[in-house]
Amino acid sequence: MTMVEYRNEPFTDFKQEHNRQAMLAALESVRARLGRTYPLRINGRKIMTDRSIVSVNPGRVKQIVGYVAQADAHLANQAIAAADAAFRDWQHVAPEVRAGYLFKAAALIRRRKFEFSAWLVYEVGKNWAEADADVAEAIDFLEFYGREMIRLAQPQPLTPLPGEDNRLTYIPLGVGVVIPPWNFPLAIMAGMTCAALVAGNTVVLKPASASPVIAAQFVELMEEAGLPAGVLNFVPGSGGEIGDLLVDHPRTRFVSFTGSRDVGLRINERIARPAAGQIWIKRLIAEMGGKDGIVVDSSADPAEAADAIVASAFGFQGQKCSAGSRAIIHQDLYEEVLRHIVEKTKQLTVGLPEENHPIGPVIDESAYNKIREYMDIGAGEGHLVAGGDIAEGDGYYLQPTVIADVLPNARIMQEEIFGPVLAVCKADDFKQSVDIFNNTEYGLTGSVFSRNREHLEYARRHMHCGNLYFNRKCTGALVGVHPFGGFNMSGTDSKAGGRDYLLLFTQAKLVSEKW
Ligand code: NAP
Repeated sequence: MTMVEYRNEPFTDFKQEHNRQAMLAALESVRARLGRTYPLRINGRKIMTDRSIVSVNPGRVKQIVGYVAQADAHLANQAIAAADAAFRDWQHVAPEVRAGYLFKAAALIRRRKFEFSAWLVYEVGKNWAEADADVAEAIDFLEFYGREMIRLAQPQPLTPLPGEDNRLTYIPLGVGVVIPPWNFPLAIMAGMTCAALVAGNTVVLKPASASPVIAAQFVELMEEAGLPAGVLNFVPGSGGEIGDLLVDHPRTRFVSFTGSRDVGLRINERIARPAAGQIWIKRLIAEMGGKDGIVVDSSADPAEAADAIVASAFGFQGQKCSAGSRAIIHQDLYEEVLRHIVEKTKQLTVGLPEENHPIGPVIDESAYNKIREYMDIGAGEGHLVAGGDIAEGDGYYLQPTVIADVLPNARIMQEEIFGPVLAVCKADDFKQSVDIFNNTEYGLTGSVFSRNREHLEYARRHMHCGNLYFNRKCTGALVGVHPFGGFNMSGTDSKAGGRDYLLLFTQAKLVSEKW
C-alpha cells in the first residue's frame, strides 16, 4: 500500500468567499434532510424499532434533526452476539486491509466535509469553525490510527537468542463496547470506534443520545467504505437503560468510554465484576471530565493571556473536556487581565449556530438548568463581572459568564460545569498559582502564560495534567501532535491520537520456535 506521510487535516478558512458559500449551501442541503428516521444496525441489518430517540436542534428547539431507532435489552444482546460472531473472521483480516477501511472512510468524509459540518451545526449547536474542527479531527483520527496499526503490525524488536525464532505480535481483544459523548459527536465517536476496529476488534457502538444522527451517518459511511457486516454494530439507546447491560455482558471484552466522571466511575466499578461465563478480565479505557485552568504569571502579556482565556473558556460554549474554566492570575496583573477578559467576553455575540455566532446554545434543557444553577452558585462565591443570565433565542442560550475574585476551594473552582462559566482567582505568586491549579480531583489540560523560563520549567514539573500548554490556549489538541488524555479523575491516562493508544485495544502475543 502506498501511503503519504500523516498530516493534520487543514481547517477551513471561512473568510474565503468560496468556503462561506460552500458552507451556506451545505446548511441548506442538510436543512432539507432534517427530520428523517435512522435505523439500528446489527450484523449489517437495518432495524427499525417502535421507540426512537428524537434529536433536536439545541439552537432552535422546535426543529427536529432526526429520529433514531432505539435499542432495548433484547437488541443490545443481539448486537453483542453479532459482534462476537464477526470477531472470528475480522481478527484475522490483515492489519493493512483493516487500515484501508479507515483510509477510505477518511476520503469519504473529506469529500463531504461541509455537509458533515452542517450536521454538527444542527445537531449539537457548533458554530462553523468548531464544526469544521470536529470534522477535521475525525479525518485525522482515521488517517492516524490506520497508519498506527500498520506500524504496530511490523516486526517488533526483541533481544535475539541464537537457535530460536521469536516474534511478538499485537492481537486484538474481542468485542468492544464503545460509548462516546455528544460534545465531539463525530471526531471522538469515530476515533474511539475506529481505533478499536483497526486493531482487529469488533464493536458495539452506543452513541450519546444527544447526537445519534451524526453517529448514524458515520455508521452508514463505514458501510459505504465496505466494512463487513457485524464488525460495527450500532445500538442507539439510553445509557441509563442499556449501558449496564452492554458493560456487564460476559462476551464484552473491553469498554471504551468517553464522558462524565460519574458514568466513568460507574462503568469502572461494574466492569470489575466477572459475569457468569466470563473468562477474561475486562479492560476499560475511560476518558472523563476536566476542571482545566490557565495560569497567568506576572511576566505574561495581559492581552494575549486574556485572548487565550476567553477562547478556552467559551469555545463551543465551554462544552469541551479541555475547556479552561478557571483562570488563575498573578496579583500584579490581575486587574488588567480581568479587564481584558471582561471586555472580550462582552464582545461575544450569542445566537444561532447556523448564523455562525461565536456563542451558540448549550446542548439540552438539563445542561441549561444545571449551568444556570452554577451561575447562581458562582455569583455567591465571587463577583459576577460578565453575563450571568440566559440569552435570547429559541434554544438553550446562555450568556458567557465571568465570575471574579473566587477562592480556590469554591465549588465553581472545583466542579466541572461544562458550560460557558469562567471562574477567576487571584494568586500571590507563581508557586501558589500552580498549587491552585493542582487543587482539583481532575488533571486534563492546563496552560501557563509566562516569559520566565524558570517558571515554565517549574510548571513543566509540577502542574499535574495530561496536556499542559505554554503560552497558548488549553483547548484544540491536534491528533498526532498533542496526544490527548488526562490524569486522576480525568480518566485512565490514555492518550487519544498518540502512539500508545492502539496498544490499549490489543494484547501482545509472543511465539517462540526452537530451531
Ligand atoms: P455522559 O453523560 O457521561 O455520557 C457519555 C456517554 O455515556 C453517553 O453515550 C451516555 O449515553 C452514556 N451513558 C450514560 N449513562 C450510562 C451508563 N449507566 N452506562 C453506560 N453508559 C452510559 O457525558 P456527556 O454529557 O455525553 O459528555 C460530557 C462529559 O464528557 C464531560 O464530563 C466531559 O469532560 C467528558 N469528555 C471527556 C473527554 C476526554 O477526552 N477526557 C472528551 C470529551 C468529553 P446517553 O447519552 O444515552 O445518556
